Amino acid sequence: MTTYQFTCPDCSRVFTVTEPMRDATIANGCPVCGAPIDRTDFMSEPAPA
Ligand SMILES: [Zn+2]
Repeated sequence: MTTYQFTCPDCSRVFTVTEPMRDATIANGCPVCGAPIDRTDFMSEPAPA
């Protein structure tokens, strides 16, 4: 499964999330501080070989 890493632009926490978690985070905001998260805040991580 593709995972994504994002850095919260507000609290600077770094999270690794799966694709459905990414969509939920975009919908709900940062799980720590509630800042709005945009799709551009996510970077896809290469899957482990
Ligand atoms: Zn945050």
